[in-house]
Amino acid sequence: VTIRVLCIGSELLAGHTINTNLAEAGQILGAEGYVLEGCQTVADDAAAIAAAVSATPATTAVLLVIGGLGPTSDDLTRDVVADVLNMPLQLDAGVLAQIRAFLASRSFTVPEEALRRQAMVPQGAEVMLNAVGTAPGLWCNAASGTAIALLPGPPHEFRTMLREQVLPRLRRRLPPQRRCLTLCLCGIGESVAAARVEELLHDYKRIIPAYCANQSRVDIRLTTTWENSAELTAAAKRLRDEFKAAMLPAETASLPAAVAQALQQQHWTMATAESCTGGGIAAAMTAVAGSSSIFRGAFVTYANEWKQQFLQVPGALLAAHGAVSPEVAQAMVLGLCRHTDADCGIAVTGIAGPGGGTEEKPVGLVYIATVTPTTPVQVQQHWFPGDRQSVRVRTVTTALNQLRLQIIADSAGCTEHGNA
Ligand code: ATP
Repeated sequence: VTIRVLCIGSELLAGHTINTNLAEAGQILGAEGYVLEGCQTVADDAAAIAAAVSATPATTAVLLVIGGLGPTSDDLTRDVVADVLNMPLQLDAGVLAQIRAFLASRSFTVPEEALRRQAMVPQGAEVMLNAVGTAPGLWCNAASGTAIALLPGPPHEFRTMLREQVLPRLRRRLPPQRRCLTLCLCGIGESVAAARVEELLHDYKRIIPAYCANQSRVDIRLTTTWENSAELTAAAKRLRDEFKAAMLPAETASLPAAVAQALQQQHWTMATAESCTGGGIAAAMTAVAGSSSIFRGAFVTYANEWKQQFLQVPGALLAAHGAVSPEVAQAMVLGLCRHTDADCGIAVTGIAGPGGGTEEKPVGLVYIATVTPTTPVQVQQHWFPGDRQSVRVRTVTTALNQLRLQIIADSAGCTEHGNA
């Protein structure tokens, strides 16, 4: 038995709206142990919707039909599904009253006909309350044995209804199918990571790994059956013990959050001096809630004159080595920490492209300098492949990880780890 999704909307097929509801359905259901078997998207077209609903495989326990429940003429889902399931529509006075009350609470007015359209309920269907919008959801038990759940398309309405109305019904109908856990590695390439993971998971036969590489980080997703939770925990611990600092702590959701946590543990603050990332490192750090306790500020010093004026990089150094050089990266981070009250610093200088590269200094060449109060400046040279955006994103990730590893190595008194 499976769960499938049918998305309704011409705008989804035309690319005017990105199908975020499908991604959210996968995430929300996945966290509860459910697996989506498949998805189909069709236009706001009665024949297409009817054909898709009718073709639902008999093994489908629940079909989530998303969108097309609204008041406009292109909203056809309710009518078509009622027709296909042979459950005639009836006006539901309770739903009508609920929609009126919801609209009154927001001082909205809607034409009477549109209001009534949304209060039509297929005979025998359960109404699912829409706490944040007008069109209610509908749970229809089809004669075939499949439950067909109709949900509104606006993402916040869809999300709320999926969590509050669909999940409880799903749990009553289907046992959870699998357990998943995601571990995040920074600074190790995907194939190297995968080879080590396969080796380490040799004794954990029922754990299935999957890898998702994304700009200098690799997410390792471990999946097993719902009952096999103990083995999943043991396998995750094994990987954590092996990868040590290269793996982000379990309780941090992202690399910037892990940097913030490492700084908080030391009671240190940080600042950045950025050239090719244009403030991207600062943006990433300030996206972390509560970062004001550890993040002091940033200099975006793109021009050489600004590197001199604000970071006191000597003009002679710039002339001798060029702005993209280990010497200038080091001078930038030292200037930053000398002239601000930040404890730790990151400085980056590089050639993001597509122009500006030379044989000696090609596009993608980046120098990252980091410093903490108790360790000397560390300067690393990288050559990042890809386009301008990719070079910039990789620089942000790699710089943050360099500082994180330096702080951790520092606090643990151990050597630097994992910076491949
Ligand atoms: P409404 O009352 O707004 O008509 P509805 O249930 O009929 O609600 P739709 O008309 O299908 O829903 O979509 C309403 C809004 O939600 C549109 O802006 C649409 O682009 C967006 N939307 C619909 N489906 C999705 C989806 N799968 N992912 C993201 N957004 C979506």
